[in-house]
Amino acid sequence: MKPLNADLHCHSTVSDGLLAPAELVRRAHGNGVELLALTDHDELGGLAEARAMADDLGLRFVDGAEVSISWGDDQTVHIVALGVDPAAAALVEGLHQVRSGRDARAGRMAAELDKVGIHGAYEGALRHAGNPALVSRSHFARYIVEQGHAKDVKSVFDYWLARGKPGYVQHAWATLEDALRWIDGAGGIAVIAHPGRYRLSASERRELFSAFKDLGGRGIEVLSGSHKDDEVREFSRIAREFGFFASRGSDFHGPGESWVDLGRMPDLPEDLTPVWSQLV
Ligand code: AMP
Ligand code: MN
Ligand code: MN
Ligand code: MN
Repeated sequence: MKPLNADLHCHSTVSDGLLAPAELVRRAHGNGVELLALTDHDELGGLAEARAMADDLGLRFVDGAEVSISWGDDQTVHIVALGVDPAAAALVEGLHQVRSGRDARAGRMAAELDKVGIHGAYEGALRHAGNPALVSRSHFARYIVEQGHAKDVKSVFDYWLARGKPGYVQHAWATLEDALRWIDGAGGIAVIAHPGRYRLSASERRELFSAFKDLGGRGIEVLSGSHKDDEVREFSRIAREFGFFASRGSDFHGPGESWVDLGRMPDLPEDLTPVWSQLV
């Protein structure tokens, strides 16, 4: 049987993506995606518009979000929530709290960037984000490129915004416990996003997976736009060992700014159980 073209991780202008929810869905449909989840950072606000367009196009749609959590010693980990009820009170309230820290964090980031000669970054990032509760490092990156300090968004992270760089500030996101409780309470499935992107040792990584599983987490992104072949093999092994459902998501943010376009990834290894077996 032909594998389903599922893309269960992407972003719209409701967080740090470049396309409005309806445009994003249209593009996914044009790319041959058959099952799509919109997973804006700590936000559910784009889901109604995306679902309406998906219904018009006959594209199956999953309500999602990508929840930012803090883990261990100043690590940020992302948990993709799939199949949530966007009206679930604890999830709505929890995400609201997570977003409320972004504005003050942006102010601290801008103060640090100012010291190294990048001026006006708070206002600049806010102009890209449109809303202080949504302002992210991606919006800072776009401003910094615009100001000519870096050639593209990727190199902004390498020089200015990644952990250990001048514009990076520590921040407390949600806890893993809270995020998994909100997702479970909203009837959703929690999936570890892009596990290849965390700077964790192999043993720290296993601690994360164990804690995630113990707290009710059920899935892992085996295929992510940012995963190389060896990472796909590694996280396939992890999925087998921990009994996780396997997910597939591009993490698309916009044309020219992402690793891969919507739906343009290899298929999951055949022996893994796709997370969408639990969603459709
Ligand atoms: P924040 O939630 O404000 O910390 O911003 C994180 C966002 O920055 C991620 O969701 C990505 O969209 C983007 N990002 C993080 N690291 C990189 C990178 N190395 N290259 C490009 N974008 C990145
Ligand atoms: Mn992002
Ligand atoms: Mn992420
Ligand atoms: Mn993402």
